[in-house]
Amino acid sequence: MAEAARRSDEPAMVGQFLDLGTARLAQSRLEAEGIRTHLADENFGTAQPWNDVLVGGYRLMVAGADAEAARDLLGELERARAAATDECPKCGSKEVREGAAGRRFAFLSIFLLNLPLGRTTKKFRCAACGHVWRG
Ligand SMILES: [Zn+2]
Repeated sequence: MAEAARRSDEPAMVGQFLDLGTARLAQSRLEAEGIRTHLADENFGTAQPWNDVLVGGYRLMVAGADAEAARDLLGELERARAAATDECPKCGSKEVREGAAGRRFAFLSIFLLNLPLGRTTKKFRCAACGHVWRG
């Protein structure tokens, strides 16, 4: 990979997130493994919630030397999240409906179709027992 030619202390982006909650989750996962992270554009995104789409959302940065390990960990996290929302955590039913998590998601979903960004916060509702949770 071209990554190998980079200086090991050069910051590398390992993830992009539309949603601050998801970005923080990914960040804390990496920090727990001893990887130092920096969340770029965080302040900008918070001050102007809609503009973060225009600058690529929240960018999770790590040192180049940690990039490969960080991407592996984020891949694991992503798979865990996907598995966790596969069935109702309360009754185990597979009749799960995905819902929009507020106005912001509805607006951002337009962009999700074409942009390779990370998952946003989603809301799920079980059709069998009515239990609602966030993914
Ligand atoms: Zn249920």
